[in-house]
Amino acid sequence: MLPYHNTLINAQTADAEDPLKQYRSRFLFPKHNGKDCIYFCGNSLGLQPTHTKDYIKEELDAWAQYGVEGHFKAKHAWFPYHEFLRETTARLVGALPSEVVVMNQLTVNLHLMLTSFYRPTGTRFKIIYEDDAFPSDKYALQSHAYIHGFEKDDALVPLRPRSGEYCLRHEDIIKAIEECDDQLALVMLGGVNYYTGQLFDMREITLAAHRVGARCGFDLAHAAGNVVLDLHKWNVDFAVWCSYKYLNAGPGGVAGCFVHQHHGADFSIPRLAGWWGNNPDTRFEMPEQFVPAEGADGWQLSNAPIMSMACLRASMDIFDEPGMVALRQKSKLLTGFAEFIIDDIVQKNGLQNKLKIITPSDTKQRGCQLSIILNKDGKKIHRHLTEQGIITDWREPEVLRLAPVPLYNSFEDVYQFGKVLEQALVV
Ligand SMILES: *Cc1c(COP(=O)(O)O)cnc(C)c1O
Repeated sequence: MLPYHNTLINAQTADAEDPLKQYRSRFLFPKHNGKDCIYFCGNSLGLQPTHTKDYIKEELDAWAQYGVEGHFKAKHAWFPYHEFLRETTARLVGALPSEVVVMNQLTVNLHLMLTSFYRPTGTRFKIIYEDDAFPSDKYALQSHAYIHGFEKDDALVPLRPRSGEYCLRHEDIIKAIEECDDQLALVMLGGVNYYTGQLFDMREITLAAHRVGARCGFDLAHAAGNVVLDLHKWNVDFAVWCSYKYLNAGPGGVAGCFVHQHHGADFSIPRLAGWWGNNPDTRFEMPEQFVPAEGADGWQLSNAPIMSMACLRASMDIFDEPGMVALRQKSKLLTGFAEFIIDDIVQKNGLQNKLKIITPSDTKQRGCQLSIILNKDGKKIHRHLTEQGIITDWREPEVLRLAPVPLYNSFEDVYQFGKVLEQALVV
């Protein structure tokens, strides 16, 4: 890879040298005036793989051909369908196969995990979370505090950036954990913050939580399929993620869940039970007493949403080819190029007061997303980009989020974004 230059030829050379460039042709791009859009919204809804239709069609055909017998006779039998996602999912998040399961939706899985792993006592009841966490995560945490009889302001300990800053400092997170000490029941953070794009040091945070006797879980909505994860080695207690963002499994796609091996065979942990979490050997004997399956599987509730899982299989099969390490390598270059181009535009035009990237520039503290504060005319600039066929997203009050993803974005996409952004800014 050449040093970065804000030129078309530099971008095209980087694309020519990109070992992952062939993956772009395996996705369907929305059109703008008959041409493919430049799509930077993989952090919100990833694009559709070209072969997803075939995966769904296989299940529709099996249903037509076998009816109820498809549970066992379909090529990918529905009864054990989640098994077809186990290995790829485990590799994606750095887990043992038994530690992951695909089920439900993200917020549902978060509730299931909080039910099992937020077990407050009269003295140990606090939850550390991000003050600017995604609203659904906050509501989930608040509702569990209420269920256990705590006022939310007593139980919930928000992490806030220092004044004048946008991101959390790692040492401040650790300090907050140490200060809560034996009152701390749970640390629950996003792996990558959805607003700022900040990536947390999940290993160190988990260690710190365990040192004071607390549990530690992560919402990986913006981390799964974006950064390299090693949940088993990091000793994370639980994690949840959705599949429609970086994982390209389609709107409302079925979500993922990780439960560390330490807990997977501990049947004394309270949980909300459903028949699909019962040991599969006896599930259809309709036993009176629920006997959880070992591992993350024991938290399943309902039989599997096959169509949604077919979409996820289509996507996971693509992810699994290059693997996260290679994807992340390209991702760092691609986002670095975006950062370089934005900085170049700012400096060339003296725009320091109009535009600021709030995502950390340290690659250890970010994934692919850049969050850009546009404190003047931000919405207008976002509209201008959209009108030119460049899809980004706007978060009130003042942030444009840009997510160049390594599977289907190119260096030329990033270059073209810079061109149009500069047009919009320098009027
Ligand atoms: C996208 C996202 C959600 C959405 O939750 P669903 O249950 O999938 O609707 C929740 N939390 C975070 C951090 C997210 O980024």
